[in-house]
Amino acid sequence: MQGLKIAGYKAGLNALYLSGAHRYVSPRTQGRGAILMFHQVRARPPGRFHPNAHLEVTPQFLDVVVRRVRAAGMEIVDLDEAARRMAGPDDGGRFVVLTFDDGYRNNLTEAYPLLRELGAPFTVYLASGFADRTAVPWWDLLVALVRHVSQLSMQVGDQAIELPSRSLGQKRAACRIAATALCRVDEDEQRRAIESVARAHGIDPVELVAREMMGWGEVRTLAQDPLVTIGAHTVGHYALARLDAARARREMAESRDRIAEMTGSRPRHLAYPYGSQRSASEREFALAAELGFTTAVTTRRGVLTPDSRILALPRISMNGHFQHARYVDLLLSGVPLALEGPLRRLLRGSLSPSGTRASAST
Ligand SMILES: [Zn+2]
Repeated sequence: MQGLKIAGYKAGLNALYLSGAHRYVSPRTQGRGAILMFHQVRARPPGRFHPNAHLEVTPQFLDVVVRRVRAAGMEIVDLDEAARRMAGPDDGGRFVVLTFDDGYRNNLTEAYPLLRELGAPFTVYLASGFADRTAVPWWDLLVALVRHVSQLSMQVGDQAIELPSRSLGQKRAACRIAATALCRVDEDEQRRAIESVARAHGIDPVELVAREMMGWGEVRTLAQDPLVTIGAHTVGHYALARLDAARARREMAESRDRIAEMTGSRPRHLAYPYGSQRSASEREFALAAELGFTTAVTTRRGVLTPDSRILALPRISMNGHFQHARYVDLLLSGVPLALEGPLRRLLRGSLSPSGTRASAST
């Protein structure tokens, strides 16, 4: 079903691209610029079970993105410069910010050499608990678990999950159902549920985070390059809106303090984990203001306009299912985002790339 949704959305985008309409409409939809969102950058891994494929792109595609952005006459700038431009009058120059969420090691090993070569500034939003090995990207842990077992047995809150997980189709379904259950319970129960069952199957969550995410030495390597901005992404990567206010505030403040302590530079920029309405809203935007962040990004889809709020900025996800130059051109035009409501209705159902995710992670 997920494959059908992606195919449907692609068909819509391809029709739009071939019509050429985006070229005529874009002056009204492209805004002043855009913040692009990436997660992992690596060669496509072998096998067919990759429920989080939307969260990774290849180095080749990242290269294509940078070249298409520049070919469209847009400048790649860092977040401080983007904030300055957004505060000033529109001089007609359009700009793009490249952002990478969570702190995956391949941001250092794959994205960094490429972007340094291209002279493209970028931001890594780091969940400090990943670098400290005290927090775990549960969406990756779930995939590792489902890949490993032939029967998924989990207790998530009140829900007992018992699902076969032998065939590819069964694994995909098990992953989707478990991810949905894990997003419904409170944040602490979510982590307890997935980590305990992973451990019971011999999968060590700490080993997983150490394998996938940068440690502080690696973060420092990035932080010392003026091309790189390290932003805060909280400590434990919880959906802030689902925590009480004091804890949400601590998550934001302590990740900034920890990054400052470990890199010598205090982050001025924040990304709300998951970034959806359900994860970050007015209360979190007010907390970001109170804590003095210069900018903060969500995952609400959109280009930057004069109406964009500096502590609730929209982004455009560079979805791994859409790794083609034409989709980059289209997304930068802002037209698919402007059309998303009508396009979705046309194709019946939630067909946006963000709607295709099996498990959330941003
Ligand atoms: Zn994230």
